[in-house]
Amino acid sequence: MPNNSTLAANGNRLVVIGSGPGGYSAAFRAADLGFKVTLIERYPMLGGVCLNVGCIPSKTLLHATAVINSALALKEQGIIFESPKIQTKQLMQFKDDVITRLSNGLAELAKQRQVKVIQGSAYFHSEHQLKITGSEQIISFDKAIIACGSRNRHLANTIEDDRIMYSSASLNISNIPQRLLIIGGGIIGIESAFIYQGLGSEVTIAEIQSRILGMCDADIAKPLLDQLMHICNTIHTQAQVIKLERDAEHINATIKISDNIISKQFDAVLIASGRLPNSDQLKLEAINLITDDNGYIVVDECMRTNLAHIYAIGDVTGPPMLAHKASRQGKIAAEHAVGMRVCFNPKAIPSVIYSKPELAWVGLTEEDAHTADIDYRCAIFPWQASGRALSSNQSNGLSKLIYHPQTKKLLGGAVCGANADELIAEIT
Ligand code: FAD
Repeated sequence: MPNNSTLAANGNRLVVIGSGPGGYSAAFRAADLGFKVTLIERYPMLGGVCLNVGCIPSKTLLHATAVINSALALKEQGIIFESPKIQTKQLMQFKDDVITRLSNGLAELAKQRQVKVIQGSAYFHSEHQLKITGSEQIISFDKAIIACGSRNRHLANTIEDDRIMYSSASLNISNIPQRLLIIGGGIIGIESAFIYQGLGSEVTIAEIQSRILGMCDADIAKPLLDQLMHICNTIHTQAQVIKLERDAEHINATIKISDNIISKQFDAVLIASGRLPNSDQLKLEAINLITDDNGYIVVDECMRTNLAHIYAIGDVTGPPMLAHKASRQGKIAAEHAVGMRVCFNPKAIPSVIYSKPELAWVGLTEEDAHTADIDYRCAIFPWQASGRALSSNQSNGLSKLIYHPQTKKLLGGAVCGANADELIAEIT
């Protein structure tokens, strides 16, 4: 195997399908390594779900609502602000400007690296050729990286109505609903609860599992759960929304909670009940490229599919569906394609819920360690004992480490509290 630093692609043709954080990271790294890169994106704006309808718009709105709530919370210290006047048009304009600026930045970076960008929906024509839907153009490649991401999972038996939204539409706010039902208490559902409550909605969450925040240990999730109970109108667990009906005024939701069936009226409904891979749109069967039963493309630790010259990265390869995971995998795929000895080691991928308090975790939970029968100990620090947390009135927090008692090696950790998104980097 040659030395990594001496490798170069010498103008071999590499094509990337999808311009999300996985796709653009892969394309830029591949161009830096000497590939002649073509990046294909079906939408006019580069950046994928994350930039256009995911991380960036949600974090922009979460920042605004966190500032509102922080200002209102100063009441406890004798500083009283008036209730805010929310001008949704201006707020949306700000969010859209952030997206446009970042997406234009990506287009500029592509240009600087001579990455050719093609707009259109790609599918496989053969093992070394792609076609674009609605065009006769054939794009030939030596290597390909599939980064086509994921989409919202649609709820069965839903009706078409502007008041019933998925996450993308929910971030384009024109009217703030008085009563909002959020179906799904995962990361997107919870962040949406903070956005809409901060803007003035009464939020109800319906989660099918027996508890929300089930991906974390119950103790570390408690500060966030307490706050959610405080800001939400109701949180139903073991709750399945079985029917949505509409009339001129409302959306009526029929919800099965354990063995009871209730009916409630809302002004809008946000469905955040998971995501599906976009692998079904690529005609993978034409080249016998293998997916698992859920449609995720099967890859090895170098991000190679069963066809050695075709890689897949990001959401389309399965959970965790996170932008930083996709971009890391993009770099690994590009580097492996040029012959570098690299692999993706998924032991320490941090996850964050950008709520207030934030919740962030990495590695094993205590429950994971217990289930896997791993010898572990926990160290827990309640923030009521932190002068810094108390002085900023943010003592509703907890830090937790899970470690091996003999080696003292960290197995995992989590932080719930202010700036958990930054603190988790220490543990990672
Ligand atoms: P994507 O970003 O999905 O990009 C795939 C691209 O491929 C899309 O642009 C799509 O149009 C294009 N495409 C698909 N099929 C084709 C085709 N056939 N031809 C051409 N182009 C095609 N993650 C975080 O880490 N932090 C967060 O805070 C966060 N917040 C989120 C908030 C929301 C509301 C949502 C929905 C997601 C959030 N995520 C967050 C997840 C994150 O957005 C995804 O994990 C990330 O975008 C995955 O990147 P990707 O490159 O795999 O795919």
